[in-house]
Amino acid sequence: SHDADTPGTAIVTGASSGIGWEYATRLAGHGWGLVLVARRAERLDVLAKEALGAGAAGVETLVADLGSPEDLSRVVERASGDDVDLVVNNAGINGYGSFAEADAGLLTRVLNVNVVALTALTRAAVPGMLARGRGTVINVASLLAFAGDLPPDPLPRRAVYAGSKGYAVTFTRTLAAELAGTPVRVQVVCPGLTATEFHLGAGDTPVSGERRVHEEGGMPAADVVTASLAALETGEVVCVPGLTDAGAVTR
Ligand code: NDP
Repeated sequence: SHDADTPGTAIVTGASSGIGWEYATRLAGHGWGLVLVARRAERLDVLAKEALGAGAAGVETLVADLGSPEDLSRVVERASGDDVDLVVNNAGINGYGSFAEADAGLLTRVLNVNVVALTALTRAAVPGMLARGRGTVINVASLLAFAGDLPPDPLPRRAVYAGSKGYAVTFTRTLAAELAGTPVRVQVVCPGLTATEFHLGAGDTPVSGERRVHEEGGMPAADVVTASLAALETGEVVCVPGLTDAGAVTR
């Protein structure tokens, strides 16, 4: 039995849509208590009601912009609470576009949400997990961590995004080695193209992003979550290619 069978309290960032919404829904079904984090309060309220209906032990919403240091410190405070047994660092933005023309503020934002917040929330939660002898951190990266320079995009235009996901992979693997022998597990999930709203707000190419999901058939967000939760015992790096229909590849 893995941690998802023994419910506690889980923090899910980016819970207001896509993969994060699916994690929250699935954990609710296992009876977890949830702390839902995102900027869109209305969405979190809808999800909170659904999650309670689905069996969540309790739900808190924490409206926060993880790219803002002030907001992040509120979430860090919550993540250090002594009831937190699972952190899903799922919130992410892509900032796709020409690197040479990129707005410096946007690049900083991508790094703050995808790298700084993920690291800070892991740091906040792990000491309590070690002290209590139980805990899991799931970080959502991307297959682009390994292949940001490969097709299908004609021009990658995603160096900082892919780099931020490469950080998530290397950070998680290295931390997993440090925590080996402790009861605390860390996992990084690397999804391929997934049918969410992620591509709608994609940097300077929202239309092509939307078309890609439509024409190439991004996998359902539920497939990512299924692979991740099924591999909690076995996989610290869980790749979910989706398009190849090959299922999860773990190591
Ligand atoms: P969505 O756009 O559907 O969801 C992104 C979530 O992140 C939303 O809930 C959004 O909430 C939240 N978020 C974004 N910025 C912030 C912020 N500044 N502060 C707090 N929350 C924020 O995309 P996905 O579900 O697809 O993405 C989830 C993760 O999966 C991301 O890390 C992404 O990089 C990764 N991924 C996605 C793939 C895909 O093809 N879709 C493929 C590989 C990885 P709100 O706007 O309310 O703040």
